[in-house]
Amino acid sequence: MTTQAGMIKSADCLFCKIVRGEIPSKKVYDDKNTIAFLDINPATPGHVLVVPKKHAEDITKAGEEELSDTIVVVKKISELLMEKMNAIGVNVVQNNGKHAGQLVSHLHFHVIPRYPNDNVIITYQRAHLSESDLEEIRKKLSQQEKKDMDFDF
Ligand code: 5GP
Ligand code: ZN
Repeated sequence: MTTQAGMIKSADCLFCKIVRGEIPSKKVYDDKNTIAFLDINPATPGHVLVVPKKHAEDITKAGEEELSDTIVVVKKISELLMEKMNAIGVNVVQNNGKHAGQLVSHLHFHVIPRYPNDNVIITYQRAHLSESDLEEIRKKLSQQEKKDMDFDF
């Protein structure tokens, strides 16, 4: 069910407007639950945004069904970019929250085709953590005790 707040968000949302056809887009894929269109400011030629039609602000708000449908389209678009654009790889980028670089508050996956000598830089500093620090974080995140997760070889 859509809440009153959800309806207002959806009415004002840029990607909902693209879904409804109120704003033009260069669509490359369209089915019942998902659309994909060219990013207006592409990282490389063929940079596609894959978007669930149902409004969800980010990955934490999306329904599992919409999310599953969307990721399957991400795969299709990745294959298409390799076949039709001769991409030699793709980066799938997905930002959640303004601190993570999300500008448009409607869940979307960037599929960025990679070409030889393109200028794309996707990077972050990698830290070194001690085994005990890693274990502390693992405990916070895990639902299970470590012994239950160890495999016997
Ligand atoms: P984010 O930073 O939220 O992950 O990415 C939003 C993306 O949407 C950006 O790459 C930006 O270029 C793209 N974008 C913003 N406005 C429009 C628009 O009106 N049409 C299209 N096709 N892409 C847009
Ligand atoms: Zn929306």
